[in-house]
Amino acid sequence: MPANPAASTPYRGRFAPSPSGPLHFGSLVAAVGSFADARAANGEWLVRMEDLDPPREAPGAADGILRALEALGMAWDGPVLYQSTREDAYEAALNRLAAANLTYPCGCTRREVADSAIGHEAVRELVYPGTCRNGLPPGRAPRSVRLRVNDAVIEFDDTVQGHQSQHLGREVGDFVLRRADGYFAYQLAVVVDDADQAITDVVRGADLLDSSARQIFLQHCLGVPTPRYCHLPVATDRSGNKLSKQTLAAPVDPTRPALALSRALEFLGHAPPAELAHDDPAEIWEWAIAHWARARIPRVRALPVQG
Ligand code: GLU
Repeated sequence: MPANPAASTPYRGRFAPSPSGPLHFGSLVAAVGSFADARAANGEWLVRMEDLDPPREAPGAADGILRALEALGMAWDGPVLYQSTREDAYEAALNRLAAANLTYPCGCTRREVADSAIGHEAVRELVYPGTCRNGLPPGRAPRSVRLRVNDAVIEFDDTVQGHQSQHLGREVGDFVLRRADGYFAYQLAVVVDDADQAITDVVRGADLLDSSARQIFLQHCLGVPTPRYCHLPVATDRSGNKLSKQTLAAPVDPTRPALALSRALEFLGHAPPAELAHDDPAEIWEWAIAHWARARIPRVRALPVQG
């Protein structure tokens, strides 16, 4: 028997919703995929509430998401981690990066970055041209804090989406770790939390595939391990728009949990047999965990929802 119980549970996954609204089909897919993958590997599954962006949060949404997960038979391990309680950890990470001269204050507004951004039209807003990298221009006050990416090229193998390679300097630019409004950026918080929670497997929507290289780069800068990544197809409507609170995606109906679960599993290539589709989420889960195979997940970034 290993002395360290963690050694006998090599898999630790998580679901990290942003409480900007109720659980809808799009976020349910990430919850179901991460839960099934963790339980099929006999792993742990944690829930982290990414309540780091108060202006985008809806009152009661965090509790509503947790109640929906319970109704759907997805029991998490350990206490829920709320990012709003983690400021000291983010601050400490930022200070370490600053002490290593990996960060700098930036005085640019969003508009200025968009106007002067280099690169392809589709990623225009993303590529920061480095205006403040060698010091704030005269008369400019610091607004945000950015990380220097230099010429880093990050490569990794995503379990579903295959080999990925991103030249951070050309495709992203030095990115923000602390926003102009004072809040910590998602990229910093997610890396600090995945490391502190010892997450081994990140299973989430492919809308975050392009963020992974930034996160891996940050892991290197902070000297923490890189988890395995598995990006699930993102659910879209028929016109190809991601289902989200903004597109008014309907909340999951917690009174019909087995139906919601079956639809999410079907979307992920694991349609439960019809004779199971009654009202018992436990039975659906028993089947899904026994039959879960990453190779069955559609290898696409986006997929329209049927029906
Ligand atoms: N909070 C993010 C979202 O709801 C997910 C972050 C992650 O899984 O890394 O889209």
